[in-house]
Amino acid sequence: MRNHHYDYDLFVIGAGSGGVRAARMAAGFGARVAVAEDRFLGGTCVNVGCVPKKLYVYAAEFGKSFKDARNFGWRSERAAFDWATLRDNKKAEISRLNAVYDKLLSGAEVQVIDGRARIVDGHAVAVGEQRHTTEKILIATGGWPYIPEFPGREHAISSNEVFDLERFPERLAIVGGGYIAVEFAGIFNGLGARVSQIYRGPLFLRGFDVDIRAHAAQEIAKTGVDLRFEVDVQSITPVPAGLRVLLTDGAVIEVDTVLYATGRKANLQGLGLENVNVQISGAGNIAVDEQYRTSEASIFALGDVTGGIELTPVALAEGMAFARRQFGGLENAVDYDFIPTAVFCQPNIGTVGFTEDQARARFGRIRLFKSTFKPMKHTISGRDEKTFMKLIVDHASDRVVGAHMMGPDAGEIMQGIAIAMRAGATKAVFDTTIGIHPTAAEEFVSMREPWPED
Ligand code: FAD
Ligand code: NDP
Repeated sequence: MRNHHYDYDLFVIGAGSGGVRAARMAAGFGARVAVAEDRFLGGTCVNVGCVPKKLYVYAAEFGKSFKDARNFGWRSERAAFDWATLRDNKKAEISRLNAVYDKLLSGAEVQVIDGRARIVDGHAVAVGEQRHTTEKILIATGGWPYIPEFPGREHAISSNEVFDLERFPERLAIVGGGYIAVEFAGIFNGLGARVSQIYRGPLFLRGFDVDIRAHAAQEIAKTGVDLRFEVDVQSITPVPAGLRVLLTDGAVIEVDTVLYATGRKANLQGLGLENVNVQISGAGNIAVDEQYRTSEASIFALGDVTGGIELTPVALAEGMAFARRQFGGLENAVDYDFIPTAVFCQPNIGTVGFTEDQARARFGRIRLFKSTFKPMKHTISGRDEKTFMKLIVDHASDRVVGAHMMGPDAGEIMQGIAIAMRAGATKAVFDTTIGIHPTAAEEFVSMREPWPED
């Protein structure tokens, strides 16, 4: 069945979330597979994304926990934070994970090729001087941080650099209002930096539910992040004590570091797309159909490079669906409905399904259930933090079509809610589910009174 005229059945470009999963699964189906990687095994998520980010979030949360503990009777010396310890322990853990990925791939008999790959034609890929032939090519090259043009752009860093800064940024400006900007504002604020977050629109986290966005602005401001909305950076100039950031409203802030988190673009540089007929979408991503086929018959693409939902579990699901279909002979499609997601700010945001605006547009009549409360822990700790929860119900079918939360462990809580929603749970099912007491999560099965229509 396989064409032994080629060196490989599948050549994967990029050993990130999607590429590694596709390579391992295809090899499991008996395909001869190679994967080329020019930076580090595991891709963005493992090296400069989800994993180091979550480790830093844990680090950031300790600061407040030490304070919370006092009213519970704990006494300790003033806690002090050491950036180098965190950074270097993070580095060691990521190196361990890189080795795990190497072992997983070689264990699956996938050939790992070190270097940047360039497509030569529909059946050939070059890495350095070496040319490899292959029946199919999978582009899983992910994304790369995008920083707009402005005077002083060269003084800004991106999420690629922020994890390994030589010195802790005592004063930090973060530009952007999406996942990365909000998460890093929380991380560095929690670690003790003075953080200003600069966002061009009226309210950050565009695309999230309107109440979550407002609650997040309120809670994040309370933690001490200096939120500046409807303003942008005009220029960055080096000064003896750091960087001088001039804003479009005329304000000036002086900081040690400016982190740009203004989105990511498909990583296509040097990929050799000019040698093949692979169509690019308007936004600069690789255009694919529901089977991850590009417009060149032997070339496929998945994950962030296709500009879909930029999340690791989505890239993993796409990698598996691709391998099953192409090498396992299995009909397979990823179901993109009700994908849960979390923003790991303090406290976390967890969300699944439609926002209020989307639900109104789609279902017409909806019922809303909202709850704002102080987490039990903070009745004694004294921390001024409120949890917010919201359910959106389609009036006609009684199905819960949106669940949104900002509060401790919202990411953990929302995974289970997502399963219920995908199973078609109605509000009546939520209402007849017995709570787990005392938890915050039980509020999701205790919200009885619909929010009054305004
Ligand atoms: P990637 O993981 O980016 O892998 C692509 C790989 O291809 C890279 O290793 C790259 O070096 C390599 N490559 C590119 N071009 C070539 C070439 N020509 N030759 C050889 N190799 C090449 N998602 C979540 O679900 N949860 C989170 O908490 C989360 N946090 C994040 C935090 C940050 C700071 C960032 C930046 C992203 C985060 N994401 C998170 C998103 C997640 O990391 C991505 O959605 C995911 O990594 C996409 O996987 P991928 O396989 O498409 O690409
Ligand atoms: P996002 O797309 O989430 O956010 C980009 C932000 O930058 C938006 O607020 C956008 O504003 C703003 N922006 C874009 N262009 C400009 C510009 N020219 N000038 C000023 N501001 C600008 O991207 P991120 O970089 O935060 O993250 C990339 C993706 O990675 C995320 O979308 C997410 O899919 C994934 N990710 C997931 C995480 C998780 O699961 N926890 C964590 C981190 C990343 P506007 O809204 O006005 O367009």
